[in-house]
Amino acid sequence: MNDVTAFPFPIPEYGSEPYWAACNEERLVMQRCAACRRFRWHPAPICTHCQHAGFDWAPLSGRGRLYSWTVITHPVHPAAVAKVPYVVVEVELEEQPGLRMISNLLGADPVDIRVDAPVSVCFERHPSGQALPMFRLVPA
Ligand SMILES: [Zn+2]
Repeated sequence: MNDVTAFPFPIPEYGSEPYWAACNEERLVMQRCAACRRFRWHPAPICTHCQHAGFDWAPLSGRGRLYSWTVITHPVHPAAVAKVPYVVVEVELEEQPGLRMISNLLGADPVDIRVDAPVSVCFERHPSGQALPMFRLVPA
């Protein structure tokens, strides 16, 4: 896709294809080491904890807590002009302490965002067809 007005998106490659394919089925998965059974993010050929090469793609609950966030107000890409303000978050997933991923938070007023707020994954379809994992605040 060469539409410069479209928001950039990740291109599945170098072993991340199963992750993006699962996203297209609205499932969140991550590599889990066959030796130490710990998850790792992002996809890598060996375990970032014990360097073992074996792994499987394990499903995640999609639940986590906000570790950090920022509100983007300055568009640095033509596609972001219509999107600002938007919220970029770092989410710690419930499956493992320290297992964090970067994403966007949808549907939240920035004044309602707090560290440690519970979130749940949702999927937003990019114009390319690729589903992207995003998060929403879980109501108290
Ligand atoms: Zn390992």
